[in-house]
Amino acid sequence: MTDQKHIAVWDNCLRIIKDNIPPSSFKTWFVPIKAVKFLDSVLTIEVPSDFFREYLEEQFIELIGKTLRRVVGSSAKLEYNVRVVSNEEAVTMPQQGVQELTNKTVPFPAQAGTFANPFVIPGLQQRQIDPQLNPNFSFRNFVEGECNRLARAAGLNISSSPGNNSFNPLFLYGGSGLGKTHLAQAIGIEIKERFPDKIVLYVSANRFQTQFMDAANVKNKLTDFLHFYQMIDVLIIDDVHEFAGKPGTQNAFFHIFSHLHNIGKQLILTSDKAPSELQDLEQRLLSRFKWGLVAELVQPDFETRIAILKAKSYKDGIVLPEEVITYLANNITSNVREIEGTLISLLAQSTLTHREITLELAQSLTDRFVSRTKTEISVGKIQKIVCEYFKISTESFLSQSRKREFVQARQIAMYISRNMTNNSLASIGAQIGGRDHATVLHAYNTVKDLIDTNRSFRKYVSDIEGQLKSN
Ligand code: ADP
Ligand code: MG
Repeated sequence: MTDQKHIAVWDNCLRIIKDNIPPSSFKTWFVPIKAVKFLDSVLTIEVPSDFFREYLEEQFIELIGKTLRRVVGSSAKLEYNVRVVSNEEAVTMPQQGVQELTNKTVPFPAQAGTFANPFVIPGLQQRQIDPQLNPNFSFRNFVEGECNRLARAAGLNISSSPGNNSFNPLFLYGGSGLGKTHLAQAIGIEIKERFPDKIVLYVSANRFQTQFMDAANVKNKLTDFLHFYQMIDVLIIDDVHEFAGKPGTQNAFFHIFSHLHNIGKQLILTSDKAPSELQDLEQRLLSRFKWGLVAELVQPDFETRIAILKAKSYKDGIVLPEEVITYLANNITSNVREIEGTLISLLAQSTLTHREITLELAQSLTDRFVSRTKTEISVGKIQKIVCEYFKISTESFLSQSRKREFVQARQIAMYISRNMTNNSLASIGAQIGGRDHATVLHAYNTVKDLIDTNRSFRKYVSDIEGQLKSN
């Protein structure tokens, strides 16, 4: 009996909650929750992370409380379980990050044991450090979308209490041009605005590596290097995958990371891959990367692409015709950098040739820019790759069978077709077993939701999209 009770209770709550908040919030913050137990009026729900729980408590606790009391009665209580990712994280933090610097690959100076606190080194304390931030990469210029919602929310949260939150480090990962650098810098900019005295530093992994190599063989220089990094309150290291195969740099970084983390300083890291997929990086680093929040940035969906195009053109003081915006959003799907690049060329073309920005101009440009990958991708090709990926026959794929695996394959094909081709919904439906446009739209929305909430699903879609692009 009690086995199913929690599900019924939570379902009733969800029904009420859904009516009271915007659909996007519902999707982001409630769909991922799982009810796990209901006993003595206590409902236990499972949430994906501490960050998630904090956010729920901050934003929705009143609504959840009221709803639960309505469903269960006045004695109702709520408990959280935070989903455990793996046991491998159970690595303990060194107590003395600084002293560990005597480790073999960083030839730390002999006086390491009596290492002076860099914060009281005369002269250093007052030193102004240029945070190396680009003011254009602010939150104001960062368009929010499904593709970046969690990462952005975490970033904003960090900005209000750097170091003192449960997502330290913040590990942002995702493909090229999806906004990792922008978001990481936005956090730095925001912190500098709110806490001007905090020492914020943005540095690319490559630059860090070069500095380390320069310092590594010169005794005093290495000390300076380590002192310097140990003074930072908010350290942003961009593209940490670049540390792969560089054990010396990794070791130095490990100690700086441990030291800063130990004393409650904020770390923000970006990478092109998730920690679990990074290769040639020390295990102790990888496990630390997962201590805080690991958030992925994914390809922007259609609505976000539209919003980005509007925001960018608005910033340049240009109002693009709707049809040009829609055309670009339909055709440039891979990443934000490409959207920006095309927009800049479009503006340049129009200015240089004194031509108005029309659909034709946009078409001629994108043909040149993105045609190599674009024009070759057809619904038929998508269908072929999807069938191969799921190992199902074209007949089953196109049939009327409602078997789950076929339905899922069709829905994914429809979703990808809408994202990667210029076909209308009706045309996509017609090509995938003669379905109507409403079916395609439904499939699109279903897949979009699943991508947000289901890891393996997200992987299917990105694998298939990856195959299509590399073909
Ligand atoms: P990455 O570091 O992931 O390769 P960047 O942060 O350099 O990507 O982003 C590429 C370009 O796209 C930058 O000019 C950035 O300003 C822009 N960009 C990325 N995401 C967004 C966004 N959500 N809103 C506005 N501009 C964005
Ligand atoms: Mg970058």
